[in-house]
This record gives sequence, C-alpha cells and structure tokens, in this order.
Amino acid sequence: MTPYDASPSQARPTSAAPLIDGFGRTVTYLRVSVTDRCDLRCVYCMAEHMVFLPKKDLLTLEELDRVSSAFIALGVRKLRITGGEPLVRKGVMSLIEGLSRHLKSGELDELTLTTNGTRLAEFAGPLAAAGVRRINVSIDTRKPDLFRRLTRGGDVAKVLAGIKAAQDAGIAVKINAVALAQDNASELPDLIAWAHGEGMDATLIETMPLGEIEEDRTDQFLSLAQVRQELDSFWTLEDIPLSTGGPARYVRIAETGGRLGFITPMTHNFCEGCNRVRLTCTGTLHTCLGQEDASDLRAVLRAGADDTALIEAIRLAVDGKPKGHDFRIERAAAPALARHMSTTGG
Ligand code: SAM
Ligand code: SF4
Repeated sequence: MTPYDASPSQARPTSAAPLIDGFGRTVTYLRVSVTDRCDLRCVYCMAEHMVFLPKKDLLTLEELDRVSSAFIALGVRKLRITGGEPLVRKGVMSLIEGLSRHLKSGELDELTLTTNGTRLAEFAGPLAAAGVRRINVSIDTRKPDLFRRLTRGGDVAKVLAGIKAAQDAGIAVKINAVALAQDNASELPDLIAWAHGEGMDATLIETMPLGEIEEDRTDQFLSLAQVRQELDSFWTLEDIPLSTGGPARYVRIAETGGRLGFITPMTHNFCEGCNRVRLTCTGTLHTCLGQEDASDLRAVLRAGADDTALIEAIRLAVDGKPKGHDFRIERAAAPALARHMSTTGG
C-alpha cells in the first residue's frame, strides 16, 4: 500500500497530544521543501552556478508524505509546500493530491504552496482540484528586463499568465516581493497597487542572510521600516490584527483597499508567537529559521523507524526548538547561516 492509500486513521499512529515546544509554543504549521532545484536563479537566493543535491539525498515522495502525515497526526493544521521551486519536482502533484486526503478528513485546515509561478499555468487546475485554495507567488518586479536580470533569465510573462490561471481556477493569490534597495525599491508602490487592483494581498520581505551568493547582500538590504515610512507619505496605512503566528505584520491601505504584509526578520522579533517548523528536502527538520538547529528525520526514516519512533523523533526535535533567532546584516560578514533559503524552504 502506498502512503496515498492510507486512511486518515492509519495516518494517526500514536498519541494525539499536540506538539508543544520547550517554551510552551504549539506547533501547528509545517513548511516542507520538496526540492532544492529551481528554474530561476534569483540573485538574493541562489548563486549563478548552483550545485544541486544528488537525487538520493532527497526524500522520496512517499517519505515526504509519511513525515508530513506524522506532523498532521500531531496537530499540524497548515502545510505549505515550498522549495526550491516546488513545481519543478517530478511527481509533486501526486504528493499534493495524496496529502489532500487530510483536507478531506478535516485534520488539515490548509494545504498551500509558495511558488515562483513559472509553471502555474499548467498546474493551477490540478492544484485547485486537490483543494489548494490559496498560494503565494513570488514576483519582485513586473518589468520584463529587470525580472530577467533579477532571476537570471526568467520570463515574467509566464509568471503573470500563471497568476491569472490560478485566479481563474479559484485560487486566491498572495504576492511576495523581496525589497531590494538597488533594484525594485522605486517600483514597490506600483507592484502593491497592481496586486491590490487584481484582488491579491501583497507581502514585502526583507532580505535575509541565508547561504553564500555572489552578490553583497548588504548593498541590497532595504529596511521595511523605511519602505513603510515612504508608503505612509502618500497612502493611509491602517494596522490590522491579522496574525499568522509568523513574522508578517499587516496593514490595510485605505486607498487601494488591499492588505499589505511586512516580513521583517532582521528588525522585528516575532519569535514569541512562532508556531512553525520547516522540513528540508533532505528530511532535516529545522525548528527555527534563524538557528543552525537540525534533526535528521531522513536517517530516522531510512533506519526503518515505525510511526511511533518517527513521532518520538519529531517530538524530541520540537522540544528543543530554540527560543529565538539572532539575524544581523553586517558589512562583509559571512551569511548568518550557511544553508540557502532554497534548501530550507522559504
Ligand atoms: N521558488 C519559490 C518562490 O520563489 O516563491 C519558493 C521558494 S523561495 C526560497 C521562497 C521565498 O523566499 C520567496 O518569496 C523568495 O523571494 C524568498 N527568499 C529567497 N531568498 C531570500 C533571502 N535571502 N532573503 C529573503 N527572502 C528570500
Ligand atoms: Fe528559485 Fe524561489 Fe530561490 Fe527565486 S527565490 S531562485 S524562484 S527558489
């Protein structure tokens, strides 16, 4: 029997006690990276010539399903598939379709993904059919030339077509844009106004020092406090108490009627309410984006662990979730963490 045939009751092997870490935070949100590969090479995310992991190091689709299902059995209510670019992983739709059984059983509130959108035109229909109701699409600019440069070769038209296809399929799209001092700072208002005009929320992200890349990130770092101040000079920003347990803070812009999130891991401490953990495509569980803590669940799986042992390993890892992170951007400093966002999953 494949994991996809498993009934919800079989996917709930042991204790239904929630996952609570050593600081009393309940983990209800899992992000799963399904690949480190991508069809783009965004300058802040990847080196131009990336060396990708050998296939044998990646969790198989069955292993990804098994670990995700174990987390769901332990009370995770929201699952986000990410990468690398999740839609370049071969067979990703069968994984998503398999996991959607937890939506049908009511154990999972939301199955979602973060994508660069290049393949969305093809995948929007199947994603909607599998119960995906909302997705995040990353797009830092709508200008074709700048998009090509920032992604080292990407075609923005494909992303825009993908967004349209997702909306046509009934999927709500949220736009994610990394704020870059040199490259897109001046057009962020236009990007936000466009997103809101098309009925999409938007979120701005501060660059984080993850992974070695060729460029100097400190030149591109743009404080979102500064962006917010600028937006405040011509729009009316009203704070709204929309909490996702994550690093985003939200405002409503009176003039556009849309919502705007600010993800500021560098300047804002959001750790107290953190409800999430991340699984890399190699099966390493990171309980904090900003720390080197790691638990090797692949080793547990491949040692032949039964569900009880797997759940024990997950509980042990979550119990050690660090209290918080300590990101700093300092000139000429090495990245705070050696791992790339594309491995950890954004
Ligand atoms: N490929 C998909 C995408 O681009 O949406 C999913 C993975 S990507 C790593 C997830 C998010 O992380 C994207 O919104 C991307 O812009 C963001 N990201 C990548 N590297 C980053 C960095 N160094 N600092 C801040 N955000 C980053
Ligand atoms: Fe690929 Fe997403 Fe990283 Fe861009 S941000 S290189 S699309 S994984």
